[in-house]
Amino acid sequence: MRATTLLSKILGLNKTRVRNVTCVDEGLVVDVVPSTRVPRCSGCHCRVRTVHDRYEGRRWRHLDVGPFRVWLRYGLRRVRCPRCGVCVEFVPWAENQSWFTYDFEEHVAYLAQRADKTTLSTLMRVAWRTVGAIIERVLPRHQSGDRLDGLTHIGVDELSYRRHHEYVTVIVDHVRGGVVWASPGKNAETFKAFFKELGKERCAQLEAVTLDMSAAYLKAVTEESPQARIIFDRFHVQRLAHDALDAVRREQVREAAPEDKHDLKNTRFALQKNPWNLSAIEEQKVADVQRTNRPLYRAYLLKETLAKILDGGQVNVARKKLLEWADWAARSRLRPFQKLARTVRSHLEGIVAYVATGLSNGRSEGLNGKIRTITRRSFGFHGPTSLIALIFLCCSGITLLPVHK
Ligand SMILES: [Zn+2]
Repeated sequence: MRATTLLSKILGLNKTRVRNVTCVDEGLVVDVVPSTRVPRCSGCHCRVRTVHDRYEGRRWRHLDVGPFRVWLRYGLRRVRCPRCGVCVEFVPWAENQSWFTYDFEEHVAYLAQRADKTTLSTLMRVAWRTVGAIIERVLPRHQSGDRLDGLTHIGVDELSYRRHHEYVTVIVDHVRGGVVWASPGKNAETFKAFFKELGKERCAQLEAVTLDMSAAYLKAVTEESPQARIIFDRFHVQRLAHDALDAVRREQVREAAPEDKHDLKNTRFALQKNPWNLSAIEEQKVADVQRTNRPLYRAYLLKETLAKILDGGQVNVARKKLLEWADWAARSRLRPFQKLARTVRSHLEGIVAYVATGLSNGRSEGLNGKIRTITRRSFGFHGPTSLIALIFLCCSGITLLPVHK
């Protein structure tokens, strides 16, 4: 068997002929040509006979062979297409504008779904930033159908990345699971862009939306899909209580006598935890707070009671108890909880709706955690479009197979 024929088999390229191979310092450079003689326009895929000019020796990175990196080399032609004008020709091994072969890109995407950043980068010998660009190209090849069809119960959430300087709004489908839409930004306009894409008819089919209490998202829902039931995310409500408790604790630390400051500072995690998860030492810390610091213990009870109400199953009971809780918090002489009491009163029906439906962004907690892990991995990407592509690749039910399966 001739060496080029063997290599052609090893590389596994379709509609491509191997002409020659050169061994260079960095690896192997394989000269190839498309197996069809008449070039095709990369814009419309039509055969075009008029060649405009030719680039000398363009290279595409292909899958490694043994220890060698492999590049395909070809003098890419530009054709004068009657429809598209002057345009590079179509090549069967790579997407227009990409300097990686389909196989290489698919393999990177397969690994991106499964492996961590360092593993992928080291194994494939590509920069992480490049991985982002590759995923952006691979994704459209695998997305099928309209993900926005048939939505009834959705959740909207914001994701922060780049150390909380930038945001992405992500929308999940509570029924089928998975991310259905994402876009940079976190204001009402961002969310409205989603409704615009959804269109009037599909907006009218929405039954429920879970969201945090951000005024921006709330405004967008009430304007664009007024029939949808608003459900405030349980974990967001809970987080507000945790924040209020922590604000009280900090205030108490500030006011405490110097010898007590240290002990009070150390109560933070014990107070935030669920009581049934406390270790013996933490239990002791909570007991000490109960004995020595009445305001802080009151704040702790307020937090715990709110959690219990949210866990309750009966809507009317929950509504009544929430109002009682708000009265208690308002009388507590703890400013952070007085503020929270006002929030709870003004958002009462949305919080009760959680008790009624059990729907919250946390319900898709596995999904949420996954999205957050991806966001941390995206550090080093060029911009939000790569991050969004990675979220879709990993969280919208796309199944990728290894290239040579
Ligand atoms: Zn064309």
